Amino acid sequence: MTGIGRRLVRWYEGNARDLPWRKNPTPYRVWVSEVMLQQTAVSTVIPYFERWVKRWPGVPSLARATEQEALAAWEGMGYYRRASNLLRAARQVVRRHGGRVPSSRKELLALPGIGPYIASAIRSLAFGEDEVALDANVIRVFMRLLALDGTGTDSSVRTRVGERAAAGLPPGKSARYNQALMDFGSLICRPRRPRCGECFLTKHCKAFRRGMQYDIPRPSHKPSRKIRTAVAVFLRDDEVYIQQRSSAGLFARMWEFPGGKVRDGETPAQTLRRECREELGVNCRPSRKLAELTHYTTVFQVRLHAFVCIPPEGLPTDRTHRWVSLAELDRYPMPSANRQVVEKLHEPAS
Ligand code: SF4
Repeated sequence: MTGIGRRLVRWYEGNARDLPWRKNPTPYRVWVSEVMLQQTAVSTVIPYFERWVKRWPGVPSLARATEQEALAAWEGMGYYRRASNLLRAARQVVRRHGGRVPSSRKELLALPGIGPYIASAIRSLAFGEDEVALDANVIRVFMRLLALDGTGTDSSVRTRVGERAAAGLPPGKSARYNQALMDFGSLICRPRRPRCGECFLTKHCKAFRRGMQYDIPRPSHKPSRKIRTAVAVFLRDDEVYIQQRSSAGLFARMWEFPGGKVRDGETPAQTLRRECREELGVNCRPSRKLAELTHYTTVFQVRLHAFVCIPPEGLPTDRTHRWVSLAELDRYPMPSANRQVVEKLHEPAS
């Protein structure tokens, strides 16, 4: 396996992707990039990463940010808990480690949002420890090289891949080896259409020899449930009414329009009347449909119906409910579906 590792490192030296976090791989920059890259494509992450490290170039400056600032800087990438955890972890690093990202696995794993993969990536890419960072790319590549049956999340598969990947690590070159595997998995041994015709590992690849490269790994289908939601857009002169979500659950502490899930047998307008009565204690009168759009969360496919509504008397205003001018809305972190509704508000009426 070390022979494969050496070939991968040689290939990487001539084919590495030019990525901003690789230019100066400090523990902080590696950490931020790896958190962003979880569940988000490289091309999307690049501008977010560049803006983030320009605004908060190190742990101490990030630790001084507010959560609202961090969420706003993250807006559009989804999975917002990553931003909250990054901020909480930065504050812990300041408190417990004097602002320096720790190198020990145990201390890294004690920080919010850092799991085994990110801990290994930081230790390998920033501290040069001989450690393999097992992400979906690496698992797929080794599953194919070894023709392993199963999905990439099977624990027996992950154990076997971990052992073989570690056996292939050329000592002292773990950063290059891990990055080589990441790039090889993205550019050559791609998830759906592996480019076996351009691959330098065909002789070592059992899946290729058996013609099984398209069947490995087996897909792990998670059926996404379809739901409908409705939101009320209360407009008053150039102001709009928004509320802050609770600190638990999806989109924690982000801002949104009032509304909720459409129940069986309800129309979206009926949902708004019920939700506004239950949640805000007011009568809601939808006046016109503003938008209807589909978005996806981890588990749901959501059809969102947005209505402009006549602002009733008695809408509460407090720390988590407020009127905000349309121009100011950019300063409030919002889930992307709500942001799309805001964009509709900016469109000229047809
Ligand atoms: S031969 Fe094909 S399946 Fe095997 S490692 Fe190369 S690209 Fe992946």
